[in-house]
Amino acid sequence: MEQTFIMIKPDGVQRGLVGEIIGRFEKKGFTLKGLKFITVDQAFAEKHYADLSAKPFFNGLVEYIVSGPVVAMVWEGKNVVTTGRKIIGATNPAESAPGTIRGDYAIDIGRNVIHGSDAVESARKEIALWFPEGIAEWRSSQHSWIY
Ligand code: ADP
Ligand code: MG
Repeated sequence: MEQTFIMIKPDGVQRGLVGEIIGRFEKKGFTLKGLKFITVDQAFAEKHYADLSAKPFFNGLVEYIVSGPVVAMVWEGKNVVTTGRKIIGATNPAESAPGTIRGDYAIDIGRNVIHGSDAVESARKEIALWFPEGIAEWRSSQHSWIY
């Protein structure tokens, strides 16, 4: 079953959006497979965003991610990577559609509330980075109606 890595960034946590964001993924029908409340250090944030290290906003991005606790999650379900990105909305909140998380709760590209993996392969890497201890197993009888 497909999985994605979703992170509520420090601004999302500080603005009290954790419940709202988790609720959107739950109500869509996806399954929560891993969750932790964690503050990461600079080296970890640089690793998570390694692909963007050449960008002019890289240092500011790392500073933003280490500025406070984040909610790191693994969500599972059919097409969860692509659909998760749709639920999140475009990177720049000025262009994210209303009804998306960024479209509803953000105005600045540098404070856009949430991260979601952009492909199945990056989801695999990000889940391994953020959850090296692995994630909990559900009993099969507990998710008979989730696909
Ligand atoms: P996404 O998070 O939608 O996958 P990217 O992977 O392109 O977007 O960028 C990662 C994060 O870097 C964005 O979510 C945003 O927080 C930040 N970012 C992207 N572009 C800019 C920018 N031009 N200025 C400041 N921060 C940016
Ligand atoms: Mg990205």
